[in-house]
Amino acid sequence: MLEATGLMVFYENMLALNNIDIRCEANQIVGVFGANSAGKSTLMYTLSGIMHDIQKKEQMAGGERITVMGRIDYKGQNISSLKPSQRAKRGIILCPERRRIFKESSVLENLRIGGYLASPAQAKKTLQYVFEIFPALEKIKKRMGGFLSGGEQQMLAIGRALMAQPKILLLDEPLLGLSPLMQATLIKATREIRDEMNIAIIVTEQYARPVFPIVDYGFILENGAAVMEGIREELMNNPDVRSAYFGVEET
Ligand code: ATP
Repeated sequence: MLEATGLMVFYENMLALNNIDIRCEANQIVGVFGANSAGKSTLMYTLSGIMHDIQKKEQMAGGERITVMGRIDYKGQNISSLKPSQRAKRGIILCPERRRIFKESSVLENLRIGGYLASPAQAKKTLQYVFEIFPALEKIKKRMGGFLSGGEQQMLAIGRALMAQPKILLLDEPLLGLSPLMQATLIKATREIRDEMNIAIIVTEQYARPVFPIVDYGFILENGAAVMEGIREELMNNPDVRSAYFGVEET
């Protein structure tokens, strides 16, 4: 469904993505795990096309030069040069790290903004679905985004992304800074979303443990390079992966 080959991203002369090959099939949940600065957000920006905008902004500010190389195919078409809005129209939707919800807008307004690509009927149906999957959001639908807890903000960010009718959802560190209970709620919801909306999901995280139960295939990123990949069981049984990403010491 989505296949990136030979992705390289340089921030000036710092190599942030080093020859990454990654793929995600229809209906799969793919996990990308890596420490701080491993390149997870850079990868998500590159797949969603936001990197084009970041590049342009840097150029306009007369700042550092960002270079992107490699190829991204989606449903058999090369989309490497498509703008983020064109990719979004085709169903590639990013739910960004740190949520980035609109703080001055209510929960409902945030969701409606997310639905700008949808028909009124689709938007209505998806809004109902978002409230079904995250009942807590319906209770606070009039509250300003800026007054939400971290967990509520993350539910809203995912809900807003769903409103954009994703076929492949890019979830960048959705669990960051959240309690174990909230993490479990979000992971359960993520699996339900995949099953019920029949979409593919790429999710990044620093720690694999909470996400692993729902991941079909995983990649390990280190210093911008994909150093390991495999189906869930393969990665789970690898001692290096276990100690670095599960916090499990081998005895
Ligand atoms: P985190 O978990 O901390 O969010 P990450 O895995 O998402 O990390 P990235 O944000 O992709 O990592 O960053 C990868 C590297 O690229 C880091 O060393 C970061 O400092 C650098 N970097 C990211 N954005 C820029 C930029 N606009 N200009 C220069 N360097 C950047």
